[in-house]
Amino acid sequence: MPICKLPPHLVNQIAAGEVVERPASVVKELLENSLDAGAGRIRIDVDEGGIRRMRISDDGCGIAAEQLALALDPHATSKIASLSDLEAVATLGFRGEALASIASVARLTLASRTPEAAEGSEVRAENGQLSSRQPRGMPPGTIVDVEDLFFNTPARRKFVRTERTEFGHIDDLVRRLALARPATAFELVHNGRAVRRLVAATDERSRQRRVGDVCGQAFVDQALYLENRHEGLALEGYIARPSFSRSQADLQFFFVNGRLVRDRLIAHAVRQAYQDVLFHGRHPAFVLHLTIDPARVDVNVHPQKTEVRFRDSRQVHGFLFSTLHRALAETRPTADRSAPA
Ligand code: ADP
Ligand code: MG
Repeated sequence: MPICKLPPHLVNQIAAGEVVERPASVVKELLENSLDAGAGRIRIDVDEGGIRRMRISDDGCGIAAEQLALALDPHATSKIASLSDLEAVATLGFRGEALASIASVARLTLASRTPEAAEGSEVRAENGQLSSRQPRGMPPGTIVDVEDLFFNTPARRKFVRTERTEFGHIDDLVRRLALARPATAFELVHNGRAVRRLVAATDERSRQRRVGDVCGQAFVDQALYLENRHEGLALEGYIARPSFSRSQADLQFFFVNGRLVRDRLIAHAVRQAYQDVLFHGRHPAFVLHLTIDPARVDVNVHPQKTEVRFRDSRQVHGFLFSTLHRALAETRPTADRSAPA
């Protein structure tokens, strides 16, 4: 075959492979967009595990009518404009790939209205074809409708599991983001039935209720609240007492600047802090938020953005370990409380 340039739609479909693996990945990207837009309330409507349809509605800043079609273009973003912005990303998104990718593997409708606009408008995308912009009556905010995921990419479609499994992944994701952003209200509806309704948490008490709603009241009852600051690092959240250990690592949530992170350095610091108080094979439970200057952490490591790289990883490791170790030491009977080495 001679060398030829791929058509843009095919390029997008290939790129979609990196971000859109299953219905939950679509929900993740759309929810992150809603959070980046400053939404106070987000509603997630899912039909048939998301395979048939996913609709995310928010009350965020909206998109100006004349920018609606541009939002669906690959590499179009309002979140960074230069390399220096990339050095200190404060938003969840920044690649400008999600909407273009999703639009290439599903039927997508993007509707939005800014608070200043008298009405909303919408555009539809299907198989790389964009419909013309139409007015749409709606409150300020954004509504993204994604139907028939992978209808045009049968190879992908084969990897989609049952409705139940796919919905489970979506629910997990909503739980994670609900923990990340307690001040935002979330409602999750599956096949017309409300599955989760999480009110906006504004104070310590309601934040604790949010943690209980997502992780179970038993965790909250057995958890220690901790808060610590040191040299520009702030750690806040709940860690389970050793008496509430798990056989699986299923209640472990670590957020860096509101982004869920799975990181070996963090996992190691936590494991070390629990080392003397947990039996072998048991896993700790925690919901922790680390706040750090965005310039001191690189989030541009992985397309799904679950890995991060700290500029000073030793400092972060030490801070986590010592904060957790101290909190856990205080739970022990005084007699066997040993000083950290
Ligand atoms: P990214 O989030 O990386 O910028 P996306 O493809 O997810 O890329 O979105 C493209 C752009 O569309 C965003 O930068 C933002 O300006 C706009 N956008 C997407 N979703 C929303 C939303 N829910 N509310 C407001 N603006 C949005
Ligand atoms: Mg995005």
